[in-house]
Amino acid sequence: MAPEAAPADLAALGRLVATARRAVIFTGAGISTESGIPDFRSPGGLWTKQTPIDFDSFLASEGARVESWRRRFESEAIFGAARPNRGHRAVAELVRRGTVSTVITQNIDGLHHASGIPAEQVIELHGNTTFAHCLDCLARYEIAALRAEFERDSRAPRCARCGGFVKTATVSFGQAMPAEAMRRAQAETLACDLFIAVGSSLVVYPAAGFPEIAKRNGAALAIVNRDPTQLDDLADIVVNRPIGAALGDVVNVE
Ligand SMILES: [Zn+2]
Repeated sequence: MAPEAAPADLAALGRLVATARRAVIFTGAGISTESGIPDFRSPGGLWTKQTPIDFDSFLASEGARVESWRRRFESEAIFGAARPNRGHRAVAELVRRGTVSTVITQNIDGLHHASGIPAEQVIELHGNTTFAHCLDCLARYEIAALRAEFERDSRAPRCARCGGFVKTATVSFGQAMPAEAMRRAQAETLACDLFIAVGSSLVVYPAAGFPEIAKRNGAALAIVNRDPTQLDDLADIVVNRPIGAALGDVVNVE
């Protein structure tokens, strides 16, 4: 019996993926909502209800550091419980096959790592909230241990080695994008022949500039997102569907 024909948009994406020699996948919040992580930037999202604590405030005030950590521990119910979903598994499979050289992500949830992609093939433009580090000596700290200490003394964690401030390994508002990650992301984008943007509304610069760079450099551009984006007109293929089902079907991964 012949297999049921795939819808035209998924079939077209499948053809692009099948002929790509070196693809890059760029992911945003939309790929992780199916893992129960809300899109903090979306209307009604957490970041529209709470004033973000910017990096200068974090450095300047113990009160801001305590509040920042209180929020982080509160969100552990979400981040600590999240597991990779079908979309993450499809991305990991394309990396395993060698189709995708690198995953560039705006997400801080660590789910690409958790899906089994080697760390050196994931570029986290906004860092990672699943662990913390000292801002001065970069010593690594685990969230659970910091939380136990915080619940005892209600003080913002300090580095046991050098006394520096300990902060989640994320890029805060007002903090510079990590130069090395940006440089690598740009190099990978220029080296690819297919750029697939997944689950990003593509409005937050400079990250959202990567699809444009890829397209201008001659790569094919595919956009997979539940809703239309402002770069759809630039894309060779646009897939507006739930992400896990779309990628899972194209890559043939459950
Ligand atoms: Zn330190």
